[in-house]
Amino acid sequence: MSESGALLDTSGRTVFRGDLSAPDPIPEAGVEAAVKLLRDGRLFRYGEDRNSIPEAALLEQEFADYTGRKYCLGVNSGGCSMFLALRACGVEPGDKVLVNAFTLAPVPGAIAHAGAEAVLVDIDERYVVDLDDLDRKAEQSGARFFLLSYMRGHIPDMDAVVALCERRGLVLIEDCAHTMGAGWNGKLTGGFGQVGCFSTQTFKHINSGEGGLLVTDDEDIAARAILLSGSYMLYAQHRARPPLEVFERHRYAMPNCSMRMSGLVAAILRSQLPLLEERNARWRHIYQVLAGELAAVDGIVLPQRPLKEEFTPSSLQFSFAKDALTDDQARRFVQEADVHGVHVKWFGAEDPVGFTSRHDHWRYVGGATEGSVPAADRVLHRLCDLRLPLWLSDEDCRIIAAVVAEAMAVARGTKVKACA
Ligand SMILES: *Cc1c(COP(=O)(O)O)cnc(C)c1O
Repeated sequence: MSESGALLDTSGRTVFRGDLSAPDPIPEAGVEAAVKLLRDGRLFRYGEDRNSIPEAALLEQEFADYTGRKYCLGVNSGGCSMFLALRACGVEPGDKVLVNAFTLAPVPGAIAHAGAEAVLVDIDERYVVDLDDLDRKAEQSGARFFLLSYMRGHIPDMDAVVALCERRGLVLIEDCAHTMGAGWNGKLTGGFGQVGCFSTQTFKHINSGEGGLLVTDDEDIAARAILLSGSYMLYAQHRARPPLEVFERHRYAMPNCSMRMSGLVAAILRSQLPLLEERNARWRHIYQVLAGELAAVDGIVLPQRPLKEEFTPSSLQFSFAKDALTDDQARRFVQEADVHGVHVKWFGAEDPVGFTSRHDHWRYVGGATEGSVPAADRVLHRLCDLRLPLWLSDEDCRIIAAVVAEAMAVARGTKVKACA
């Protein structure tokens, strides 16, 4: 938590005093569970004592129930959950994996980790995968896998995505790092493809510092993922797992990649899972208030979000209106907002800054040459991102919007309107 509120600086400009990068604290129940585990030292997820049920196995059961999937596996990061999903679905070195170009660095990273080759697919003005380009690239590349990343929580038309994957025979793996609890037309993300992958890194919907969860209904994928994650031969201790005979089919073929979730991480997450719905409702409220304010700012446009997109926004994206700003003015805008307390991330910066890297920065991705995803180039050049911590009040949202509006006016050389 951090102290928020507004103040005017000596030149009458609005300043936001909260720290938008401050994470939300772990609930007391999680702190207590963690301390208890620390006291008895059982941090490793597998035990040789059969009497207690390990925290990780309980978390997996609870998350499988939450998502409505049969099987769940906890791992050490979201990136590793995607790597394991790819391997467990049969991706071999040299295979091609389609992926929407607007995503986070661990996504092409997971594909590279599996020895596979990412084929970037273009996006549209709603920041989601362009289905015509997906169809085209699927045909051109002959890829059999599609890693769909709901980057920053934006969800494409899932009826159309699933239909296309079925028609093209694509295995669909969902990257739900920003969509825990979000859905499309009444169905939760992570339930559309063969596998759903989640992250519990500090800036996602539930926070364990590092962590990932993988869900599936396919018993072979589940068994392979559990074995690959490094279960030694203790996989019987899992709860949200397939029957033991399924493991017999795979146990000699899967390497142990040591990507387990620790008991400590599981304990911290178990305390947060029951709060998810309430948190997501809070995020939707914050988004609505801030989006309403920002939509009124000259030079800014917000994406249209269809009614079927049931998003859970832990961040907010907006774009510069077409031709509203030159690159120099965009840099000025970011800087002006920053010195007045609002850290806006801009995806158009030449060099990657923090979390904000872009497809053309991932030079290890073959074929990611200029012009291969022209719409993504254009859209990301105008795209900005704001994190939404849960403690933001309606008043905080108004102050943030005022800072953004004033920074925009200064950058464009128009008159700064007095703050309301
Ligand atoms: C955070 C994130 C991931 C996974 O991140 P980890 O740090 O490996 O847990 C994957 N995809 C997206 C879009 C993300 O934002």
